[in-house]
Amino acid sequence: MSESSWTQRHRPVVGMDVLRLPLLGGLLSGRYGRLSLQLLLGVGALALVIDGFVGPQLAARNLATVAPWVHLRGFAVLALLLAGNLFCMGCPFTLPRTLAKRLSRRGLRFPQRLRNKWLAIFSLFALFFAYEYLDLWASPWLTAWLIVGYFAASFLLEALFAESAFCKYVCPLGSFNMVYSTLSPTRIAVKSPSVCASCVGHECVNGSYAPQPTVRLDEIAIDGGDATRQLRVEHGPAGALGCGTELFAPQMRGNMDCTMCLDCVRACPHDNVSLFTRAPGAELSRADSWPRRWDLSLLVIALAFMGLSNAFGMIPPYYALQERLALDLGLSSEFLALLLIFGIGNLLLPLFAAVAAASLGRRLTRFSKRDSLRDTVAAFAPAFVPVGFGIWFAHYSFHLLVGPGLIVPVMQEFLGGVGDWQRWSFSLDANLIGLIQLLVLIAGFLWSLRLAQKTALRLYRRKALLGLLPWALVFLFMMLAAWQVFTLPMEMRGTLELFG
Ligand code: SF4
Ligand code: SF4
Repeated sequence: MSESSWTQRHRPVVGMDVLRLPLLGGLLSGRYGRLSLQLLLGVGALALVIDGFVGPQLAARNLATVAPWVHLRGFAVLALLLAGNLFCMGCPFTLPRTLAKRLSRRGLRFPQRLRNKWLAIFSLFALFFAYEYLDLWASPWLTAWLIVGYFAASFLLEALFAESAFCKYVCPLGSFNMVYSTLSPTRIAVKSPSVCASCVGHECVNGSYAPQPTVRLDEIAIDGGDATRQLRVEHGPAGALGCGTELFAPQMRGNMDCTMCLDCVRACPHDNVSLFTRAPGAELSRADSWPRRWDLSLLVIALAFMGLSNAFGMIPPYYALQERLALDLGLSSEFLALLLIFGIGNLLLPLFAAVAAASLGRRLTRFSKRDSLRDTVAAFAPAFVPVGFGIWFAHYSFHLLVGPGLIVPVMQEFLGGVGDWQRWSFSLDANLIGLIQLLVLIAGFLWSLRLAQKTALRLYRRKALLGLLPWALVFLFMMLAAWQVFTLPMEMRGTLELFG
């Protein structure tokens, strides 16, 4: 590709460079910036594991249950909305990864058949199933094992494979964060595409580690013109890692698969990549942001439906449904009943909704010959992000706002003191929580509708309304179903013993 066509295709970004902000910029992009954050959260994870194994096995009094199931999830969705994928950025599970990554310099490639999002859909399904079936929210001991399992799986996959297979293909938390970070107001991008066009080593993705020190001279274009300057590039044993999820900075169009680790920033020898602000969700309204793949589309759509079923598992009709399944179908096994409910709600329903809406839209607009079913579903899949996020946000903020101060007495007791439960066991007004939930559900619905409208206009032009209609009905169903769920009494998991 010629330099000019490269420059045209990879336009420079226009947002504010976050890493140029005083203090914060230096802290984030510095060699030990992320490591400090990870170490902090790593110590936190260790505390959860210790309390989970040896602390009181009462969910509301144990760090292992209160911190992740009440607080962390609430803060994670808030961070996604206001800043970006901060959870993955500080993820302690990737701490042993750096060591594992060094070990696997020449590691295997992750199997071609698994280099997609099917495993991520499966692991999300498995996590939500285990959460419900094993009552993870009520068991500090099991939650501690889950954390240990996470560290082990992350280390093993990183040691075995050359890329960060765990983050990109397996981790359910990472998949959740990556999908919803597409709404975030920040993204990684290059400052000058012309510099990338003349870059030789592409260290942002390849890294700059070398067993023996090497020096290279790059002829880098100045401001896209013909003039160049020579830049010295050094590689060595202390070199930086390239992008673990194998994203190539100048070709990135959004946040999907980005863990916000900033390795690319540290690795680029030309200081040409950074974290920029952008319009929230900018990538969702662009046609070329995501590849048109069934696995990716269904991950996004299924995750939105999983938000519904996850909340449904906490209200009385769920238990009534289990009873009916036992009485009418003889499904007395809770395992099988849950498998049936989640199998339908989390996998079959989203698949059916997507295929039915796409088929109906193509038929109504008579565009079925031009666009394949897969391409139609892929075109509308990004529109599921806001409605899905609204449901998850309404759910997780409920738990957070019901007991925002609980972490304090739990921490006091973990440190050997006396928990000041009287002072910290307050809750936000139930009506206010309900109002917040309603507002985020409506906002998510309207945002999804707007995105789907843009897609329908792009695909069907004058017949856009007909093409939009089936998708709008799906979003409406999701929003109303979620509202119905949130208006019913919910189990106050992790806080029940204190407020019940
Ligand atoms: S290493 Fe830097 S200059 Fe080279 S391609 Fe990556 S972002 Fe561009
Ligand atoms: S190295 Fe990759 S995952 Fe990390 S911030 Fe850069 S693009 Fe994102």
